[in-house]
Amino acid sequence: MNPVELFRKAEQLAADGNDDEAREAFLRLTEFPDTGALAFFRLGEIENRKKNVGQSYAYHIKAFEREPGLAARFIDEQRSGYVYTYRYAKVDEIEVAQCPLCNIPGEMHSVYNMCTNSDFLEGFNPVRIWRICRQCNHIFAAGYPDNLQKVLSSTAPESHIAPRLQFLPELSDMLARLKGFAHGNRMLEVGVGAGELTSVAKEMLFDITGVEIRKTYAQNVAARLGVPLFPVDFMDFTTEDLFDILMLGDVLEHTIKPLAILEKANRLLVDSGILWISTPNFESAFSFIMKDKDPMWRVCEHLNYFSYRSLMKALSLAGFEVIDYHSSKHYNGSMEVTARKKV
Ligand SMILES: [Zn+2]
Repeated sequence: MNPVELFRKAEQLAADGNDDEAREAFLRLTEFPDTGALAFFRLGEIENRKKNVGQSYAYHIKAFEREPGLAARFIDEQRSGYVYTYRYAKVDEIEVAQCPLCNIPGEMHSVYNMCTNSDFLEGFNPVRIWRICRQCNHIFAAGYPDNLQKVLSSTAPESHIAPRLQFLPELSDMLARLKGFAHGNRMLEVGVGAGELTSVAKEMLFDITGVEIRKTYAQNVAARLGVPLFPVDFMDFTTEDLFDILMLGDVLEHTIKPLAILEKANRLLVDSGILWISTPNFESAFSFIMKDKDPMWRVCEHLNYFSYRSLMKALSLAGFEVIDYHSSKHYNGSMEVTARKKV
């Protein structure tokens, strides 16, 4: 059997869930120059499914050593110029061994190669080790770039530049629900992105203020809506004001210190103020079904992967009680949790 036929057969075996036979075939394919890198990549995926985290990591690194431009094999040039031209280079990282919620050591959980996602960013390591805290059921990145703030503030993924109009009706339903919980209409939104939620909040007469770490996004939204927008990291944001509602949509998974974010949110809210959070849930119905095909494992910017249980724990530690849970209608596998500031 020539390498191309063998590769096709190995792919089919893996697709059918026959990882043991697929592994044998991919091991043979590592000996050929044209299929070697892809075979190591697939071996990395197989060892991850078999919970051999260390071996999975070694194979993913071997895949890049064999072919530094491996990403181009997975990514459509039209969709993402950057990842298409990406060549592997290890970046310096701050290691994270302790759960950011409990401060106890987390176990190695899994390994994913992020270069297959078109949102992969320059400055991150493409091979990600995730750790899990068994105490609070929280998953977190085992490391992040030592210049993370610079990486985030100097890049602006295009997916958050054009507002996604299809999100607007659902956001309106969600804000209508929040109106029933809140006692006032002063709202702070952290991470405005393309400004979909900001637009709907303005339509519904919320008195909205925004914070956005990426200057380009903040300027776009401020220009479009004429609402106050501060281009700073939330942790550096200062104000004399208090808010009735604070929105943390798709923010917590990006931060090194999610508890510090929640504690700051608590300080900025009035008594019994409302906090709304959207974040991916690794124990969502979607993730249970998708397993390692869940794309959230491969988003390089995400440093935390909450479960409902770990989010409840974090909220409780920061002085909140959960009052509502919904699964997101526009992000597969994300949860939308509303909490009230405890008095
Ligand atoms: Zn924990």
